Amino acid sequence: MGRVTDDYRRLLPGSTISEGKPKERETMTVPSITLNNGVQMPALGYGVFQTPPDETRTAVATALEIGYRHIDTAAAYGNERQVGEAIAASGLDRGEVFVETKVWISDYGYDATLHAFDKSAGKLALEQLDLLILHQALPGEFDLTIDAYRALETLLADGKVRAIGVSNFMPNHLERFLDATTVIPAVNQAEVHPYFRQPEVLAADARHGIVTQAWSPIGGITFYRDGSPGSTLQDPTINEIARTHDRTPAQVMLRWHLQQGRSAIPKSVTPSRMAENLDVLDFELTPEDLAAIDSLDTGVRGGPDPEVVTREAFGREIPEA
Ligand code: NDP
Repeated sequence: MGRVTDDYRRLLPGSTISEGKPKERETMTVPSITLNNGVQMPALGYGVFQTPPDETRTAVATALEIGYRHIDTAAAYGNERQVGEAIAASGLDRGEVFVETKVWISDYGYDATLHAFDKSAGKLALEQLDLLILHQALPGEFDLTIDAYRALETLLADGKVRAIGVSNFMPNHLERFLDATTVIPAVNQAEVHPYFRQPEVLAADARHGIVTQAWSPIGGITFYRDGSPGSTLQDPTINEIARTHDRTPAQVMLRWHLQQGRSAIPKSVTPSRMAENLDVLDFELTPEDLAAIDSLDTGVRGGPDPEVVTREAFGREIPEA
């Protein structure tokens, strides 16, 4: 616990470590990734999927205090309002926090998606969003998915959003999509962790200059669902690498993403874990470590198969306010 507490204090912006000399003032700056339109996005963000609305404000406030400057939410998470409240109360300048949210499939269609922006921006109490992405492709209603993306293109042209992207897009979705749209997505947020690496998605994203952003980056979906096959946190290879570097398994996995050029958005409502997950900027995995983690891929997906997402099965109304 002592180490975590020290890390926490060290990660507080502008804080000093009292045991150290006065000059040892440390501010941990998360490296930025430059998106394909030049926008800078902190590579490491903070996710709020499954964080209940009544806990979200405190969780995001703590995350901002610890030093996160990129928050990932979604209309479908039902907690955009509380994310916005925490940002407003943080006292940080608007330009210091990168805010990302997602349009849910029930709001796809040109006009509906323009309105989805109004709903999300209203709840977040922000005039401009940093990154707005489509949460899923609708493979059976691809024209509707494209209409939704055209609305994102309009929002981008109008300056309402600084960058646009997609989530859970498979290579075939990207190919169909790129033929029919103008702006190449800046980001594809996808399930990527050591047990499900999706190399074909990583390759397709790289081919088109799209940043892959890992959801469940420490493999949350391998342990927080009933019937999950096995936990990445318990994995012997990851634990051995963690021991070698005197780090935790979560830190090793986050470092793996960063060193391979991905963005990652770990979620935790536990302050010590929030700090732990941000404290990954001052160690380096070896090429052998990276290859050993790559080799853990089981090819078994934890989340829903993007090919079977339909509005009938997954649709739900996103409230106006
Ligand atoms: P994560 O890989 O971030 O894992 C989260 C889980 O791990 C929680 O149970 C958390 O517990 C626990 N945890 C966090 N840090 C540590 C740690 N250092 N040591 C041990 N346990 C830890 O999974 P998520 O699925 O939540 O993904 C992260 C984010 O990705 C989401 O919040 C969301 O923003 C996004 N996402 C997007 C999806 C999409 O379809 N686009 C789908 C799923 C997620 P606790 O909170 O109790 O500390």
